[in-house]
Amino acid sequence: MIAARGLHKSFGALEVLKGVDLTVDSGEVVCLIGASGSGKSTFLRCLNGLERSNSGEVLIGITPLMGRETDNNKLRQRIGMVFQHFNLFNHLSALDNITLGPIRLKRTPKAQAEAEARELTALVGLADKAHAMPHMLSGGQKQRVAIARALAMKPDAMLFDEPTSALDPEMVREVLDVIRKVARDGMTMVIATHEMGFAREIADRVAFMHAGMIHEIGPPDRIFGAPREKRLQEFLSKIL
Ligand code: ADP
Ligand code: MG
Repeated sequence: MIAARGLHKSFGALEVLKGVDLTVDSGEVVCLIGASGSGKSTFLRCLNGLERSNSGEVLIGITPLMGRETDNNKLRQRIGMVFQHFNLFNHLSALDNITLGPIRLKRTPKAQAEAEARELTALVGLADKAHAMPHMLSGGQKQRVAIARALAMKPDAMLFDEPTSALDPEMVREVLDVIRKVARDGMTMVIATHEMGFAREIADRVAFMHAGMIHEIGPPDRIFGAPREKRLQEFLSKIL
């Protein structure tokens, strides 16, 4: 579904991605773990074309992202993204945040977009908040709206960049529950997270990033239970 091959990315003299390879199968959930600054966000941003890598390539299905022959806007719409800080439009209601993409980018008729958005607000447990403005919502509620907004585009895959890191502890669970539900429905996902218990439970594979490379990848029981790489062992010993 998504394949990254030899991704390199530098910001000026700072080399942030040093050759990242990852293949994510359809329906697979991959959790990205690693210290702050290891390159997780940059990697996710390259996966959906928010950031252009200096070399290497990303394939969505069989189509190269950023290829000269590719309709990149169309292709990028197939990959949803959920950010740490929600990035809702503050002047739009929850429902209007959710319908904006389908109406503007996919030319979905308004009534249909709204009907689908109502189903999505129910899916994320916010049926009664459809007309609320973002400032009236808690962080957990805003993040659930952001997930509904990404789902409204009917993406083939979803990327989550530390979706619970900006939340008060009591709101983490409601957001993880929604992500879990979407995963069970078969969505392909890459999730950068510091929630190790969640990663262990939800991931088909866990990838450990350190200094711009994936140093170890494997099933969660092995990554958390029998890590091979010294740096992964050190990382886990600090946080678990
Ligand atoms: P993580 O998400 O794992 O914390 P990031 O991908 O955000 O890591 O950052 C990796 C490194 O790249 C950090 O040193 C960060 O300061 C740097 N970086 C990220 N984005 C930019 C940018 N737009 N310009 C310059 N440096 C950046
Ligand atoms: Mg980050």
